[in-house]
Amino acid sequence: MRLTVIGTGYLGAVHAACMAEIGHDVLGVDVDAAKIADLSAGRPPFYEPGFEDLLARSLASGRLRFTTDLREAAAHGEVHFICVGTPQQAGSQAADLRYVDAVVDGLAPHLSAPCLVVGKSTVPVGTTVRLTSRIARLAPPGVRAEVAWNPEFLREGFAVDDTLRPDRIVTGVTSTEADETLRRVYAPMLAADTPYIRTDPNTAELVKVAANSFLATKISFINAMAEVCDAAEADVVTLADALGHDTRIGRQFLNAGLGFGGGCLPKDIRAFAARAQELGAGPAVAFLDQVDEINQRQRSRTVLLARRMLGGDLTDARVTVLGATFKPNSDDVRDSPALAVAAELHRQGAQVRVHDPEGAAKASLAHPELWCGEDLLTACQGAELVLHLTEWSHYREVDPDKLARVVRTPRLIDGRNALPHDEWRAAGWTVKALGRPAPS
Ligand code: NAD
Repeated sequence: MRLTVIGTGYLGAVHAACMAEIGHDVLGVDVDAAKIADLSAGRPPFYEPGFEDLLARSLASGRLRFTTDLREAAAHGEVHFICVGTPQQAGSQAADLRYVDAVVDGLAPHLSAPCLVVGKSTVPVGTTVRLTSRIARLAPPGVRAEVAWNPEFLREGFAVDDTLRPDRIVTGVTSTEADETLRRVYAPMLAADTPYIRTDPNTAELVKVAANSFLATKISFINAMAEVCDAAEADVVTLADALGHDTRIGRQFLNAGLGFGGGCLPKDIRAFAARAQELGAGPAVAFLDQVDEINQRQRSRTVLLARRMLGGDLTDARVTVLGATFKPNSDDVRDSPALAVAAELHRQGAQVRVHDPEGAAKASLAHPELWCGEDLLTACQGAELVLHLTEWSHYREVDPDKLARVVRTPRLIDGRNALPHDEWRAAGWTVKALGRPAPS
């Protein structure tokens, strides 16, 4: 099938390459000419495991091309996927839909044949309905473009695998033709028995924000328990393990620590709450404000713990932050909890060095005031406190004996509760973590 994928960021670039991998003829479109040049040359504009090889394969097959020209896209696609960003509006909790609208406004006048426009971006409920009338207004007379929503659930760090082998496919459609078209797009996944949920567009849009709200709530729940554990001198990791054995609860997403960030969860729960408010259903999701607040509080709790460990004053303290990205196996630093803590420590007077195996360049761009690098020993040289804030597997492999010889004082905050504390303590480190009592 001839597909276009409009918006080639973390979601769209991977979607485009995966669609080419399963045999479609794909044109990727973006307004960012530098990104299009990189993708066309096989240079991934971001780090995502497996993506570089997939991109190379798809380009070599001749089934994947890129352009900045929406006119070319209009002529190419039987199906147009919208994958542009939907960030938080400045000065509001709501989603900023200007990029989605710009795609529709740019594409519709150039359409010359019936097609299906399929949104994958995360949007407020009601967007499909709104865009349907917008396209009908802008498309040339007699050209019918149907709009459907097909939310994306991929996780950065696993994006290629999640796209090729999704847990489920959800489509919000208003006609049998649209349903059949999407079943043809995803035929290899359906042949592999991937659950396929066909529903109306409003429900499809809501599935995505409901899923993210649930995940965010689970993380904030365990972080709330960590706060109580701190007050009661109890151990949140043991508590989470014990809870997780209950199959109705499950252990996943019960890792207490610095909380969630990134380009999706924080802005998605805020946009959901704002949209529910508009619909008169605000009280139903008022708990999401608490989820957000608990999440933000873990950042200030971590800064406070750092200050306490350094004797109450951060001025000129040499501090090393391990991790800049919002999660491991990605170079994405959008709303990264690790960087937020690093920036706050710096603001309070500390001399901060940030280490990240993949995200140092993007971290430097976002926070030019911070030293960011990829060499761990240089980053830790002379540190009086090391904070482990992004759960890269590299950090679990660090030899605490060796690192103790590089730092000035072997003090560690494990903001992800992921390092082997006993081994670090045996190597002479003072180790603290949120929700963990001091060892007796
Ligand atoms: P991103 O910022 O990495 O990519 C967005 C891309 O859209 C950019 O390359 C930008 O240049 C491009 N763009 C903006 N306006 C455009 C236009 N008018 N025409 C063509 N291209 C345009 O964002 P992302 O992380 O890929 O997220 C995109 C959407 O997918 C968001 O709604 C997000 O919530 C959702 N989503 C993201 C993920 C994820 O893990 N990143 C997962 C699921 C859903």
